[in-house]
Amino acid sequence: MALLTAVLELTGYLRSPLLPDLAAHSLLLGGRLAIDFANIPSYPGAPAHHLSWEELIVFLRDSRIVSEDRGVNLLALSGSDPDAAQTLLSRSVRLRDALRKAFSAIVRKEPIAQEWSDPINQILRITEGHDELVFEGTSWKMEFKAREGGLDWLLAAVARSAAEIIVEGARARLRTCANPACGLFFSDKSRTHRRRWCSMAICGNRHKVSSFARRHAS
Ligand SMILES: [Zn+2]
Repeated sequence: MALLTAVLELTGYLRSPLLPDLAAHSLLLGGRLAIDFANIPSYPGAPAHHLSWEELIVFLRDSRIVSEDRGVNLLALSGSDPDAAQTLLSRSVRLRDALRKAFSAIVRKEPIAQEWSDPINQILRITEGHDELVFEGTSWKMEFKAREGGLDWLLAAVARSAAEIIVEGARARLRTCANPACGLFFSDKSRTHRRRWCSMAICGNRHKVSSFARRHAS
């Protein structure tokens, strides 16, 4: 346990849930964007059904949906435009909870309820738009222009990733961590398809240590 704590402190994962800031980090071990999103807030001991504005922004920053600077600006939004922040946060929680239900069903080889696709479709619809050529000082680039304003486009890539996983179904090789107290989702991309843990450092080693202790106690 002391070793685990040391590992987590070193990697910056162990932070008080009461003091989230942009120095905190999301655990991105799901292997795909929508899986990592379903896992947030994903640090050990995080209350599973809670999600703060800060934790959402940290995820958007860590998964490179927004830049560090944009993350800092967004963080301030909960003070400057609380309604906009609250709307995005509620949409995010609704999307995350639907993904958890759909992904659990895929893991258990059960059917996915129609209603779980609603929050995904809602984001896909809102984030309709088009690409536009934009000249940036020295070169041209393509930039996505959302049809509607607002912040929902921040969830567009997550919704698209989620839709792809649901279409793939069993082929997405979705799993939940073998530690029953953990429950994080991941995509098993290992060659042998026998990955058991969200992370060896967090849950795999803990399991090894406890079975070692059990063997020596008996
Ligand atoms: Zn785990």
